[in-house]
Amino acid sequence: SASVVWFRRDLRLADHPALLAARDEADEVVALVVLDPRLLARPTARRDRWLASVAALRDACGGALVVREGDPATVVPAVAAEVGSEHVHVTGESTPYGRRRDDAVRDALRAESRDLVVTGSPYAVGPGRVTTQAGTPARVFSAYARAWREHGWPAPATSPRKVRWRRGLASDPLPRPSTDVGEVGERAALRRWHAFRDERLADYADQRDRPDLDTTSRLSIPLKYGEIHPRTLLADLADVSRGGAAEATRRFTDELAWREFYADVLHHHPRSAWSDLRDDLPLDYVGEGGDALEAWRAGRTGFPFVDAGMRQLRAEGWMHNRVRMVTASFLVKDLHVWWPHGARHFLDLLLDGDVASNNHGWQWVAGTGTDAAPYVRVFNPVLQGRRFDPDGEYVRRWVPELRDLPGASVHEPWRVPEAASDYPEPIVDHDTERREALARFAVARDRT
Ligand code: FAD
Repeated sequence: SASVVWFRRDLRLADHPALLAARDEADEVVALVVLDPRLLARPTARRDRWLASVAALRDACGGALVVREGDPATVVPAVAAEVGSEHVHVTGESTPYGRRRDDAVRDALRAESRDLVVTGSPYAVGPGRVTTQAGTPARVFSAYARAWREHGWPAPATSPRKVRWRRGLASDPLPRPSTDVGEVGERAALRRWHAFRDERLADYADQRDRPDLDTTSRLSIPLKYGEIHPRTLLADLADVSRGGAAEATRRFTDELAWREFYADVLHHHPRSAWSDLRDDLPLDYVGEGGDALEAWRAGRTGFPFVDAGMRQLRAEGWMHNRVRMVTASFLVKDLHVWWPHGARHFLDLLLDGDVASNNHGWQWVAGTGTDAAPYVRVFNPVLQGRRFDPDGEYVRRWVPELRDLPGASVHEPWRVPEAASDYPEPIVDHDTERREALARFAVARDRT
């Protein structure tokens, strides 16, 4: 007998409850990946990274991966019928599209007396499972994180029994990624985690906000594709914490909790992906953003810390968290552009682009999300640069026009008369736009 496991953003073999469920049910397991035209039509960085990760998974299961292109609601039942499997096993999905797709696949399977069996999720605690003491979904992060810790999470799923893969099914070719996406796959993810845990975690609490130093884990990308599961990280963190690095592990655990919080918010409010959660705050934005949006995208705003971040995004498909906050704030509060325009650009370029973390990160910055981050907080791009890139190293790395400016002077090139002439003048005056943002906020508040 054979069962089917359909991989989506759980591209690993270890700590994989849905795979173990499939294996426990039958002698052989079909490893299936579907090339869904709806997800793959746009040539984004994420698409390439996902394809590369699928290729690594195919290697990890000795080439036994079955790739099929087409609408999952057609393709998945066809594979189940081919091998006579009653069940198709998946890791749960909580994005709006993922839920619609899975409902359609479930309906199609049921029409043939088969079923879609969901085991686990990409999170330590499945979205929707954590509630506050009042039994309601948490609106703010602190309440969520408290309840999330109290809820706790299972240990990594392990099993001594090996999986026997079903071979010989027809498979479509796997497109090659069109760009270089760096190291991929489960083994690389584990290596990255172990290196971070052993060499960097101890300094994480103090240094995580410094984009000039390579102090964060960069696990957002492997987590996005499920090459590693947060359960694996949390189990290791408990050991490290017992070893004495309590503050660093608490901070890192909190960051993982942000990821789970945003998935929970999306689960409860699917429309928050692309519209303001706080629609009691009707802010006036420039719709399309025009030239200002273009300058921001290109990393040519004349604010070096912002431009460095936007250029890192384009070059690496990743940006440091502090700089994500500052660049997002700049677009929304200095250029007054509605956040979805920025969120779309991030999602197109980020290798870790994730609708829950990204779009709610944007809403947090804009002050329109569930969390109580005040709209009145406006990041000053120069002060942020001076504080978190104190020697200007980060800016010099990404903005070569300013390479010759010494130290922190790089954050204010307009103060250095002989500064590079090919670097743009600031496109706005920060103090003026800050006041403008606050004035718009006051108008919106008065209206409600
Ligand atoms: P570390 O500091 O090593 O953190 C460990 C892990 O915790 C991360 O890998 C990530 O999974 C999680 N995490 C950390 N901070 C956050 C956070 N604020 N929100 C949610 N999860 C977090 N993260 C994404 O994974 N995908 C996105 O598309 C994304 N877009 C963002 C957009 C904006 C405007 C902002 C402000 C933040 C965004 N983040 C996003 C969150 C955060 O910036 C990245 O997770 C982090 O920079 C990834 O680097 P790291 O793995 O080295 O992080």
